[in-house]
Amino acid sequence: MIQTQIEKIIEPELIEQARQLIERCQKFVVCTHMSPDGDAVGSALATANFLRHKGKEAHVVFNDTPGENLSFIPGYRDELVFDNQRDGTPDTHAEALKAIQEAECFFVVDLGTPTRMGSMSDEVMKNPAPKIVIDHHLDPSREDFDVVISHSEASAACEMVYTFFYQLGDDALLDKTIATQLYCGMMTDTGQFVFSSSRAQVYFIIARLIQEGFDKEKLHRDLMLETERRVRLKGYILQQKLQVLTEQKAAYFSLNKAELKRFNHQKGDSEGFVNMPLDIYGIQISAFFREEKNFVKVSLRSKGDYPVNIIAQKFYNGGGHKNAAGGEFLGTLQQAELLFVKALPLILKYSEN
Ligand code: 5GP
Ligand code: MN
Repeated sequence: MIQTQIEKIIEPELIEQARQLIERCQKFVVCTHMSPDGDAVGSALATANFLRHKGKEAHVVFNDTPGENLSFIPGYRDELVFDNQRDGTPDTHAEALKAIQEAECFFVVDLGTPTRMGSMSDEVMKNPAPKIVIDHHLDPSREDFDVVISHSEASAACEMVYTFFYQLGDDALLDKTIATQLYCGMMTDTGQFVFSSSRAQVYFIIARLIQEGFDKEKLHRDLMLETERRVRLKGYILQQKLQVLTEQKAAYFSLNKAELKRFNHQKGDSEGFVNMPLDIYGIQISAFFREEKNFVKVSLRSKGDYPVNIIAQKFYNGGGHKNAAGGEFLGTLQQAELLFVKALPLILKYSEN
């Protein structure tokens, strides 16, 4: 094994508290955020596999089914789903509910606030069993959980999950599947190591993961594959829907229900589209509004010193990071768009201060 210099960034008391809970409990449930992305799926699956290697009973319960675009992550659809009415996958609600109710301990990964779990949040929080958070978002709600391991400098929850195994002294439990799942989360949350990945620690961990012998190149290639549906939808957005506000350094687009239907939009089809406008010279702020059944899903992105989480919180019942935020807006698509245009001076002002 090569010598890596992985830093023990997790506070030792938290590692000890988690160690005692793992020793004491047998039945675990691992939860993550709704609409799980690559980091959510990778960190949840890896945590459950790790617990199984330690002789524990562990279920991942996703709030909703991971999109097909994540099919390169091993085991991406092998686990339980709390709310799978919408996607035609086998209904595992009853099993998911039972696992949550019987859990003796929870791992909550890639989120820091209970509501981010979605509709399963109430059931999880109702169970008084201890809850261990492993995350990298800003401002976790510490009062809701028992052990909060959260470092916003980390590239991904998967980076934190590996660091957690390492500090427990359980690096030897890593296998090819866990290493692949963790790699996938780090690869996706950093846009293939473009952003949030300038710390050497990221690459020391990658160096360790890659020793398990997975095909890194294939994962990157699989990540870039797109369905014809998605490519055509992308073309339509860029050609017909994109609004560019050059003066405000911003661009946005929306998709209404009829358009989603016309393009046979499936879960995950528009994942990452919100980043496209940032490829335009001079554009620093981007927004995507998608009409859902009862709300408008809002995704916000920026480059540099433009804090989009501020408007996610203020206008869209949401939150997130400075450069990637989102929320759910209870109103029309037009109202959501108008609010964004009106909020732009606010973000521009913040960046000047
Ligand atoms: P996305 O645009 O990929 O859905 O979300 C980007 C980031 O914004 C997420 O990682 C999360 O931090 C934040 N975010 C998205 N939607 C919500 C929401 O409804 N509530 C909160 N608090 N944060 C959100
Ligand atoms: Mn993440």
